[in-house]
Amino acid sequence: MALAALNALGGLRAGDEELVAIVENDACGVDALQCLTGCTFGKGNLIFKNYGKQVYTLYRRSSKKGVRVAFAARTVPQGVRQDRAHFIAWLLEAPQQEIMTLQNIEMAEPEPARATASVACALCQEAVMKTRTKKMQGKTVCIPCAQKQHKSVRRKR
Ligand SMILES: [Zn+2]
Repeated sequence: MALAALNALGGLRAGDEELVAIVENDACGVDALQCLTGCTFGKGNLIFKNYGKQVYTLYRRSSKKGVRVAFAARTVPQGVRQDRAHFIAWLLEAPQQEIMTLQNIEMAEPEPARATASVACALCQEAVMKTRTKKMQGKTVCIPCAQKQHKSVRRKR
């Protein structure tokens, strides 16, 4: 599916942030996508949407073109899915159009990744991205500390 999307956009994996992937699950298929497309969390060009769907969208900044591939579960022959070895063999042999639907799509250009400044959490002192902090009684704290504080306040009641 990653290769099909990449080919539809003219090949070439992502050197930097040229290519962006939006993935709708966090299962093992995303490892293959990261390897093949070069879109990774570290580069900031992998966007995760927790929809639990086998859908992958690739976007190329230079051409402003996007392509969306979705696993076509309905075309898997009866009985194939239940047998893992059989399913893998079927996946490797089936023509592309039986495995997935592929659509060219219009989409808004994803925002470029940006580095965010870190600050020290007022409670645990660990560095935390400023954009992920919470304010508690005037103090800037990390999310786990905010949750711990919240629980201990509830326990005291
Ligand atoms: Zn903390």
